[in-house]
Amino acid sequence: MFRAAHLIAFLSLGAILMSAATLSDQAKSLHFSSIVIDTHDDTTQRLLDPKFDLGARHSDGSIDIPRMRDGGLSALFFSIWIPSKITGPQAVKQALDQIDAVHETVRNHPNDLVLATTADEIRAARAQNKIAALIGVEGGHMIANDLGVLRSFAALGVRYMTLTHTGNTDWADSSTDKSEHNGLTDFGKDVVREMNRLGVIVDVSHVSDKTFYDVLATSEAPVFASHSSCRALCSAARNMTDDMIRDLAKHGGVIQINYHVGFLSQEFRNVEAAHPELEKEINAEIKKRCGDDESCSLVAGDQIVREYMQSGKLPRVDWTKIIEHIEHAIKIAGIDHVGLGSDFDGAMMPFGMEDASHLPQITAALLQKGYSDSDIRKILGENTLRLLHEVQLASASTQP
Ligand SMILES: [Zn+2]
Repeated sequence: MFRAAHLIAFLSLGAILMSAATLSDQAKSLHFSSIVIDTHDDTTQRLLDPKFDLGARHSDGSIDIPRMRDGGLSALFFSIWIPSKITGPQAVKQALDQIDAVHETVRNHPNDLVLATTADEIRAARAQNKIAALIGVEGGHMIANDLGVLRSFAALGVRYMTLTHTGNTDWADSSTDKSEHNGLTDFGKDVVREMNRLGVIVDVSHVSDKTFYDVLATSEAPVFASHSSCRALCSAARNMTDDMIRDLAKHGGVIQINYHVGFLSQEFRNVEAAHPELEKEINAEIKKRCGDDESCSLVAGDQIVREYMQSGKLPRVDWTKIIEHIEHAIKIAGIDHVGLGSDFDGAMMPFGMEDASHLPQITAALLQKGYSDSDIRKILGENTLRLLHEVQLASASTQP
């Protein structure tokens, strides 16, 4: 464990030095003058650990204030997540604990962080050289079938809700569970309409294809996929088909590309599927390092998978795959409908994108591909700002 941690630290230091050396002045100046938004980070689990300080630089995980500063990250959505199997009052309690942890983290870092709920507040945070902290609830199970809980979450600053996680809720089917409701139930449609009224973005990451189309038919406001990649490039059920990407865009939405190796690389997926024993081995190793500690498990899983890729047990996936997915999504959806939703601290990151400090490489790569400054700014954050603004306008139009 000691040696592995050192190896990872050494590799990521090497990648930082390499990327710093190869970033052009043009890329740096464009990146650090843009608003860069990440719509999905699972760092909240770590915030629950009283020993974890977001203000300190860490050698594990992907997100802390120093590395966000290094990467020019202007705003991030802290994900409120608990497993789908936890439901009812217990789910509400745990979600509230995590929302409180985000608020407390912001309160404890007033020079670096500010809570934001609108596009204007993100721009204002940026003007004060602060990082905007936003909140998204990852899984409709946390409202415990109660629109009052949804309204309370919105009042506490929650600005998106992913309708399901990996399991179905009582009112929406997930992409990784058996179809139970044929998409959204009538109550599920009420949830979507209430989210529209509250100005909470409907997040279609994780939901089944039928749920996605029921959402498009129900939602008055544009919706987004906070952390999903392209199924045409990697056949995970969690990724979006070209038709879905096209229809999301027609509805004004944004696909935020996920950096998880198992959603980026078909080769990685194929080897994983052919060798189920590897997943068992990895899970046993996570258990050994972390016991039942969820935040430790999320971060350790990322490290262990990278060690497996390093040793050749799993195919190596490089960060440039992220660019392939961004370009594919642009081809299908158009430049106005693609953004970034890393899944940092909740998934397995590719080589060269171990943490938020590497984000300027995305700008450099898109410049090299010939995209204009204004198009790159759209991908980095302007598309998400536009969506936040439109969801807010749609909410205002429903008020009497
Ligand atoms: Zn997720």
